[in-house]
Amino acid sequence: MNNPWSSAKKQLKQVAKIIDLDKNVLKSLSQPDRVLCFSLPIKLDNGRTKKFLGFRSQHNNRRGPYKGGIRFHPQVNKNEVKALSMWMTWKCALVDVPFGGGKGGIKVNPKKLSDVELERLSRKYIEYLSPYIGENKDVPAPDVGVSPQVIGWMLDEALKHGLTKAVLTGKPLGLGGSQGRIKATGQGGFFVLDELNKNINLKKKTIIVQGFGNVGYWFAKIAFENGYKIIGISDSQGAILNSEGVNPDQVLEYKNQTGSVKNFPQSKNIEADKILLQPTEILAPAALEGVINKNNAFKIKAKVIIEMANGPVTPKAEKILEKNNIIVVPDILANSGGVTVSYFEWYQNKNQEQWTEQKVEEKLKEKITQSFNQVWKISKKRNINLRMAAYVLAVSRVVDCRGYLKSNVSNFEK
Ligand code: GLU
Repeated sequence: MNNPWSSAKKQLKQVAKIIDLDKNVLKSLSQPDRVLCFSLPIKLDNGRTKKFLGFRSQHNNRRGPYKGGIRFHPQVNKNEVKALSMWMTWKCALVDVPFGGGKGGIKVNPKKLSDVELERLSRKYIEYLSPYIGENKDVPAPDVGVSPQVIGWMLDEALKHGLTKAVLTGKPLGLGGSQGRIKATGQGGFFVLDELNKNINLKKKTIIVQGFGNVGYWFAKIAFENGYKIIGISDSQGAILNSEGVNPDQVLEYKNQTGSVKNFPQSKNIEADKILLQPTEILAPAALEGVINKNNAFKIKAKVIIEMANGPVTPKAEKILEKNNIIVVPDILANSGGVTVSYFEWYQNKNQEQWTEQKVEEKLKEKITQSFNQVWKISKKRNINLRMAAYVLAVSRVVDCRGYLKSNVSNFEK
């Protein structure tokens, strides 16, 4: 079974070699500062009480408050949140927002709960977590399976416990959310892809998107509106292919009516997991970690994999892809748009500002493009892949701040 925590540690070890990281610093970065586990009892609609397992991993706060989403998914476990929290540390450092890394989750299938049950569970989680979070301590946000509505309930609960609205990001607009936050991860991914394409000049601009939740949809939509061709989309129920390209808005409308992208008109149906193996220039895994692994990596036909999910490519798979000259744009760069606009939201809340959608988009583009170009430059100069280049930059920024031994790593930025 794929273990994201061992992947995350492996990646850190690899970069430690490249930057000659002090052994003790490596050891310290290889563990989260704290992992909280809760058993969350809630009353179900049938009158019984059920306990759900909840977590929050706080990996590192040397650059600022812990930051990262909360995931509602049946697969959530301690190793997963630990890995996701470490990746958040690197992501926040890479885009240079003043946060550390954290991640939370509840082992639950939110689709199987009624709205009332979901509200109780969301509130219970925050009730238990409230002593450990705060606008300058730990700032959670949405992740897989968590809607703005859930964040709204969580905010209401947080306020009851004396916390301020900047304790959570990804809030609905009326509760202090930011313009542009919902589409931010997909939009940021598109900015990265388009910047990459200035360097590699893809001819057909064909894209296959694996996973059609918030991130997959917005990434596909924005790419489509900018002249890319969406030739395949999958969700957990199935997948569709259409070499002429589809309009993501029409696919979403169809999915909202039928529950899946499966059987979308004028398209060929294939099994969901076969979507990764179809010919395309760009493959965008936008669901869960570990989907591209040693068992299927050698069958991948894409030229570029853009990691819109966190951790979709395992370290073993990455080696195979590298041998086959497939470019992997790492998650901490590709999907950093979400946390970047979370930072804008937190900043607006703290300064009583409200930015326009246009301002958010411009600032996001500027930040992401800058990060991409820094990573690209390091990758070329040191002849390392994009993930290692991104890690060199991110890890050196974390190590170079207060709390760690001074090192030579800041030189990598130049
Ligand atoms: N869950 C998102 C991520 O993995 C966003 C985190 C945030 O906004 O804090 O990057």
